[in-house]
Amino acid sequence: MVVEPRVKDYICTTAHPVGCAENVKNQIKYVKAQPKVEGPKKVLVIGASTGYGLASRIAVAFGYDADTLGVMFEKESNGRRTATAGFYNTRAFEEEAKKDGLYAKSINGDAFSLEIKQQVIDTIKADLGTVDMVIYSLAAPRRVTPDGHKYSSVLKTVGEEYSNKTLVLKDNTVTMAHIPAATEEEIENTIKVMGGEDWIDWMQALSDAGVLAEHVTTVAYSYIGPKITFPIYAEGSIGMAKKDLYRSSDIINEKFANVTSYIAINKALVTQSSAAIPVVPLYITLLYKQMKAKGVHEGCIEQMARLFLDKMAGEAETDENGFIRMDDWEMADDIQEAVAKNWDAVTSENVKELADIDGYWDEFYNMFGFKIDGVDYSADVDIM
Ligand code: NAD
Repeated sequence: MVVEPRVKDYICTTAHPVGCAENVKNQIKYVKAQPKVEGPKKVLVIGASTGYGLASRIAVAFGYDADTLGVMFEKESNGRRTATAGFYNTRAFEEEAKKDGLYAKSINGDAFSLEIKQQVIDTIKADLGTVDMVIYSLAAPRRVTPDGHKYSSVLKTVGEEYSNKTLVLKDNTVTMAHIPAATEEEIENTIKVMGGEDWIDWMQALSDAGVLAEHVTTVAYSYIGPKITFPIYAEGSIGMAKKDLYRSSDIINEKFANVTSYIAINKALVTQSSAAIPVVPLYITLLYKQMKAKGVHEGCIEQMARLFLDKMAGEAETDENGFIRMDDWEMADDIQEAVAKNWDAVTSENVKELADIDGYWDEFYNMFGFKIDGVDYSADVDIM
């Protein structure tokens, strides 16, 4: 069938199999053009199918020559509806990795569950023996804990309600977003979903099963950003979960003598998860405009290639809090001053001038395999 994008709010409900494959190949091409680095050789990537996790997997596979085992939560096609982008991305990744003689297997299921943890352990035992790197890149709206409890995360502020400008994605207008304060229970639930408990559970399960190598590195991702986004991000409900993630990194370092744990603070980028956060997409469009003008813009693959092939090659480069700062170029004074000035000035009338709206939408469509150069979108494609 001919697959067209169907955009609903901040998500596209269709994905193009050929476009997704092309997208993955382009990311691989980027990494292959970088000098190879000596690094971990058997890597488990949790949340491996889209965004930062997919880019991480590509960076370590083609930058370190690493075998990779990926975990994701994606939908297959039922013959009428397309699969999700992450499904097509993963299939394309596996094909390309195998062509280069790299091991690549993926497990599609709920990473929070005991069953998937066991499947991963069994697969490592059967195929790899041990892993020497664990990348934790989950972004999930809900979690069912092993005791059957369901938790949902919220994107709200903490303390007081907050109002600020936001980009209405359906018509590219700028309006005010009014973000309510989360209740104590909502904050606790968001910490359950996006905090570090499950990361520790993973490391414990892998350690107990004896599938961690003698020296293991693990890394999880966070975002800090500028003051404009503090109430909704760093100091909002998601920020509370990220603080829990930081504490969890310390716990992992204390608990497992053979594991070194890191937090990388990544750049704000268009991904399926960030599109859902109020205020943030407007900030991203203003940021892209400045970073592109100064020639320092990066997408997921540029960020993750820089992380694994540069900042984490050898001894990891960290700041005074122990964080690996991949947001260094985003947070540069000249960039932030220009963004802050434009933040005050931006309206529905001038948003196309001040912000990189087209760039945002290109990246948005690209995530689902659309608007990729060289793909014939009028052609019939097999969606299975
Ligand atoms: P994403 O939505 O593109 O990727 C999420 C991944 O998690 C996918 O592979 C998905 O299949 C997987 N996943 C979700 N629920 C799952 C489940 N229950 N079981 C198994 N897999 C599951 O998101 P992203 O933006 O790449 O986010 C990854 C991490 O990076 C998050 O911790 C996020 O907070 C962080 N981060 C994102 C940004 C940004 O701007 N996008 C910036 C800094 C940090």
